[in-house]
Amino acid sequence: MQTMNGHAQPFDGERPIARRHTRRIRLGAVEIGGGAPVSVQSMTKTDTHDVEATVAQIRELEAHGCQIVRVAVADADAVAALARIGEQVRVPLVADIHFDHKLAVQSVAAGVAGLRINPGNIGSAAKVREVVAAAAERQVPIRVGVNGGSLEKAVLARFGGATAEALVESALGHVALLERAGYDQIKISVKASDVARTVRAYRLLAGRTDYPLHLGVTESGTLLRGTVYSSLAIGMLLAEGIGDTIRVSLTEPPAREVEVAQELLRALGLRPPGPRVIACPTCGRAQIDVGRLAHEVERELERYYREQPDAHRPVVAVMGCVVNGPGEAREADIAVAGGKGRAALYLRGRHVRTVQEDQVVPALLEQVRRFSRDRRAR
Ligand code: SF4
Repeated sequence: MQTMNGHAQPFDGERPIARRHTRRIRLGAVEIGGGAPVSVQSMTKTDTHDVEATVAQIRELEAHGCQIVRVAVADADAVAALARIGEQVRVPLVADIHFDHKLAVQSVAAGVAGLRINPGNIGSAAKVREVVAAAAERQVPIRVGVNGGSLEKAVLARFGGATAEALVESALGHVALLERAGYDQIKISVKASDVARTVRAYRLLAGRTDYPLHLGVTESGTLLRGTVYSSLAIGMLLAEGIGDTIRVSLTEPPAREVEVAQELLRALGLRPPGPRVIACPTCGRAQIDVGRLAHEVERELERYYREQPDAHRPVVAVMGCVVNGPGEAREADIAVAGGKGRAALYLRGRHVRTVQEDQVVPALLEQVRRFSRDRRAR
């Protein structure tokens, strides 16, 4: 199979994905394109004027490994809030602006690392030049972000609707305005609300430009639908080597978006693996709360691996009973199997001790840390 970026080798997990060649831009400390690792971004859902709530949400995103955070900027007060927000967080911020070029210029002065604005929507070439001059002075990249729902009337008329071709044409039109103003620190997104159009639009775009691409599906929906749509569209494209930064849009707290994005990248081998926690499906024999414990262990290990990215990742099993659990967890490095109010702890299939149910998670984490220490000592 020949993929759209010209690679003969489809994704099969045997080889790393061959990424499409693009220019490289820099957003704060995060490099995008030109072979840089695919970065994860999200957007705050708080009122930007509420500095405290927005900072709290950004910090939660940082804790989940989000690398770039976009913030809606609708008026001058939001710009002032953004400046105060920026002082309190580490992650680079992108100001999301529609129409008002002054807000873009002010946001750059307020210290944002990136802008999302479509130059075709801001009125005149002089205004575009103003934005470009401000952005160029601080090397702030601009994302041209076209969505199926907000295409220009003329483009819709020419293509007979919000087709993939229409999305690409609109995006390249905005890009041309920036280029005419002498700017090339650009990334592009062409998001539709369904998988097929999104994939087609990005494939077309990848064939027509070497700017880095920001992937996403717009209005993808709540957790289940949004995860499926985003994983399919973003996953197909990344597997073909297309895409340099991603946002999974969900009608959920933004930290969920980042969790899904990280898993997606891991599934494609574009990120180190996460926690390797397996759990039995539970049945009438279960004697501990397998679901709760498995989630807790997973959450704690996520945090541990984020702090210790080189740590060894042993397979950890949480099993509901001692009747079948130890046998079913034979492949695990570390396992617990539930008894009444307690659990048996196994290392590589060997029973080592029994712990109270409330000590299961700390005991498993301690064993994971020990595995990592032993491996380093070897
Ligand atoms: S390990 Fe025990 S509780 Fe879990 S599914 Fe198997 S038999 Fe049921």
